[in-house]
Amino acid sequence: MINITFPDGNVRQFEKGTSGIDIAKSLSNSLAREVFSINVNDELWDLGRPIEEDATIKLNKWDDPDGKHAFWHSSAHLMAEAIEALYPGTKFGIGPAIENGFYYDVDPGDDVVITEGDLPRIEKKMKDLVSQKLIYTRSEVSKEEAMNYFGNKGDHYKTELIGELEDGTISFYKQGNFTDLCRGPHLANTSPIKAIKLLSLAGAYWRGDETRKQLTRIYGVTFPKQKMLEEHLEMLEQAKLRDHRKLGKELELFTFSQRVGPGLPLWLPKGAQLRERLENFLKKVQRDTGYEPVITPHIGQKELWVTSGHYAKYGKDSFQPNKTPQEGEEFLLKPMNCPAHCEIYKFKPRSYRDLPIRLAEFGTVYRYEQSGELHGLTRVRGFTQDDAHIFCRPDQLKEEFLKVIDIILYIFKTLDFNDFVTQVSLRDPEDKEKYIGTDENWEKAEQAILEAVEAKGMDTVVEYGEAAFYGPKLDFIVRDALGRKWQLGTIQVDYNLPERFELEYIGSDNQKHRPVMIHRAPFGSMERFVAVLIEHTAGKFPLWLTPDQAIILPISEKYHDYAEKVSNYLKNYDIRTLIDERSEKIGKKIRDSELKRIPYLLIIGEKEQESNTVSVRRQGEGDKGVMSMEDFADFLQSEVQNQLKAIEKDV
Ligand SMILES: [Zn+2]
Ligand SMILES: [Zn+2]
Repeated sequence: MINITFPDGNVRQFEKGTSGIDIAKSLSNSLAREVFSINVNDELWDLGRPIEEDATIKLNKWDDPDGKHAFWHSSAHLMAEAIEALYPGTKFGIGPAIENGFYYDVDPGDDVVITEGDLPRIEKKMKDLVSQKLIYTRSEVSKEEAMNYFGNKGDHYKTELIGELEDGTISFYKQGNFTDLCRGPHLANTSPIKAIKLLSLAGAYWRGDETRKQLTRIYGVTFPKQKMLEEHLEMLEQAKLRDHRKLGKELELFTFSQRVGPGLPLWLPKGAQLRERLENFLKKVQRDTGYEPVITPHIGQKELWVTSGHYAKYGKDSFQPNKTPQEGEEFLLKPMNCPAHCEIYKFKPRSYRDLPIRLAEFGTVYRYEQSGELHGLTRVRGFTQDDAHIFCRPDQLKEEFLKVIDIILYIFKTLDFNDFVTQVSLRDPEDKEKYIGTDENWEKAEQAILEAVEAKGMDTVVEYGEAAFYGPKLDFIVRDALGRKWQLGTIQVDYNLPERFELEYIGSDNQKHRPVMIHRAPFGSMERFVAVLIEHTAGKFPLWLTPDQAIILPISEKYHDYAEKVSNYLKNYDIRTLIDERSEKIGKKIRDSELKRIPYLLIIGEKEQESNTVSVRRQGEGDKGVMSMEDFADFLQSEVQNQLKAIEKDV
């Protein structure tokens, strides 16, 4: 017998060689149906794998990421089996579980093309296989056996992967007629896979390398219940309606032009106004909390980036230097604002009494992204960071860090991002050479972040090995209205750049000391933030922020003059209005205004003109009654003020 310890500390005896599924069944049959993988001594295992020694275990259900992972990864294998059956001779790349489902990169051969139209056929084959209740079996194989198996099969993608593995660490998984190179873990069998949907196809270069073959990536998602699939498809439908690329066009916020260049957004007047309002909002917060604005150029001498270390690290994968025609000087588009801010710090000698110095800039930066990776406003080649750099004494680090956290929390609250988690990214303790800077400095910085996060009592995950090469960081990941995760604000400690730029201050001891630097961007970038805001709100921005607050809808041409009069009156109150002067029916005007997400609709006709009033409708709420122009102005302004007041109370 062996001792199995459960997460609550309970210990029970089982026969040697018991498995996760046996343990689950011994607790209850319904539990056994809900469990998809098991952690054995903190290692993720198959439910069917025999446990030979005393162990601490955790059974993973659907709600546990490790449970979903096994479920979707098993589904990827199942899809591969279906594809192999329908397209004999297909070669397979990789097929991982992802955040919402799974994919497999496949090469069906040079003469075969798999299209969207083929997905239902593959789906059907998968369902047939599920009904056979195929068992996922693990076997450990030598490197030679593994090479032979895939060599004989002619799958050079797999043999390439096996070539990089160490002998003694290789395992195969087999279900039905399909065998895959895989670390696992997997479901015990295919029967829990009750609902299947293959979603889309994309081209994907083998190993992400453009010089290699493009494989067909097939995305899918599966669930243990049909209802869960239906809910998921509904969420995807909603996400499509909220897609910021679609709404950005419909609401005339931004566009792209092939002639200007891929990945370079053009902000249209309404988008620019919205962005400016966001910037002004943050500028005010920054003024109130001791930041000073600076402005720096869009290019910098190559030497600057050599000094900062960026050139050595990213030079090859960046936009290449521009040369001046006469002098042969080399300039780079700036990928970040920090080095220029370091030079501003150095402009004059600094004393310990001057610190902290907080330099803020809405700085536009340019980073090369492969054209295939570009996506709306979330993956671009030019974007504006709401950037600032704080230069402080080591003893001020934690306090400054806490203040930045406050600003970020304030912004999230204002814009209704109430669901978020934070991630602390620390060094990989096994591979310290990757990082620039001394051990001692890294430890100090990591400590400061962990203490600040603890002091704020935030929901935090600590990730080892996720830090940037120059310092540890804290990221804020928000969940939007559809439950999707987006990385937004970031705060990063940096002991490295002050060293490279030889930044100094004179301490109270009259000696030279090195300041610590904090990089921070609460929005992340204006582009990304606006994209997320559009998808979160479905384009229904808060009244204080929205481009057009009210639209005047005259019921016929006769009332255009009165419409002008109302518009001018409201302008005096800084209310942003539009007039719909088209000769459309009022019903159509109302529907169109609602599609444009304009919060207030003011309908005017004979009655309103005679009594100097407007008939007010609120987007999504309907009729608000007839009001005098003055009452409406007060009504709208007080709504804006209440929103902003609710905000200011929290500063
Ligand atoms: Zn696998
Ligand atoms: Zn920076």
